[in-house]
Amino acid sequence: MLERKISRFGVLILIFVLPLCVLAQKGEKIQTVVIDAGHGGKDTGALGKVTTEKALNLAVALKFGAYIEENLPDVKVIYTRKTDKFVELSERADIANRNNADVFISIHCNSTETPNSAYGAETFVMGESKNEKNLAVAKKENASILLEDNTDAYDNFDPNSTEAYILFSLSQSLYQSQSLNLADKVQKQFSSKGRHDRGVQQAGFLVLWKTSMPSILVELGFINHAKEEQFLNSEKGQTQMALSLYRAFADYKREFESENHTSGQPEVSEKPASSEVGDTYFTVQFASRDKKVASTDKAFSGVKEVDVYEYNGAFRYISGRFATKAEATKRQAEVRKLGYTDAFVIAFINGERGTIKQAEEALKK
Ligand SMILES: [Zn+2]
Repeated sequence: MLERKISRFGVLILIFVLPLCVLAQKGEKIQTVVIDAGHGGKDTGALGKVTTEKALNLAVALKFGAYIEENLPDVKVIYTRKTDKFVELSERADIANRNNADVFISIHCNSTETPNSAYGAETFVMGESKNEKNLAVAKKENASILLEDNTDAYDNFDPNSTEAYILFSLSQSLYQSQSLNLADKVQKQFSSKGRHDRGVQQAGFLVLWKTSMPSILVELGFINHAKEEQFLNSEKGQTQMALSLYRAFADYKREFESENHTSGQPEVSEKPASSEVGDTYFTVQFASRDKKVASTDKAFSGVKEVDVYEYNGAFRYISGRFATKAEATKRQAEVRKLGYTDAFVIAFINGERGTIKQAEEALKK
């Protein structure tokens, strides 16, 4: 029986993976992202005391998408749902496949059997679950298909059978390393804002299995942890999570495109420093605005690796991320030549503004 199932899965793997091999050479730019707000309609997802998972997922998904639309106008954002409606898991993946998306991001909230027993954010990629905890998360999220009228798309997959998940490990995505890279960036952004970091995990999620591009499933936090529910249900919490997702996506895009040398910027012989530095770095601040304009705005054309951050109520525009002050000073000279004569070097420590000295000390460690 097991063998029969494996061979059936084997056929499925051929069906799904072979076309992927052809597609493995995807475009050199990140042009389309599918944002998937988990659950919806009759499928509430996990329940909190005052809200539902489907509502929190949608709120963060819409905010996240809006940040991309505003700041990365070359990226097309497609939502699997923008309202409180039920969408099959296979359809969510199909939306991404049909649109030839470059990235798929599914947004969820976690819960535990015992309320208030766990908290924090974690990000999953498709893969074999290494422990019971991860398996339980996948089982819970995949259980959505029990509400679907027609489950032919899943080849009789039983979301409650552990054996079915073992078979999943055979179908690791071709895009696993890219998915892991994106997941890692998401977790780094979450933790830089003080969220408890539960790390990057792997498990067999139907919605990820069915996609043919780098894809991740984010668990924003535990809805049945009173404090986290309050945070995730607040404007501040949703903005923070959406901004973190945006920054991770923007980082991933920038890195991907610079590696493919199609960033639209003049090609540089050496790899841009921004792909090598972590959350503690030096950068050059060259402009400040009360109203936000996109970092890709033509007003800034000529300035390399523009990014924006908010500080003391204004939007500050920066260029590059460097591991040393000397490299940042070089960039400062370049930016000043472009007319930004007030450009100056600043530092970030663990994603927060700090002094140059603090950054130098943090980087020594
Ligand atoms: Zn969920």
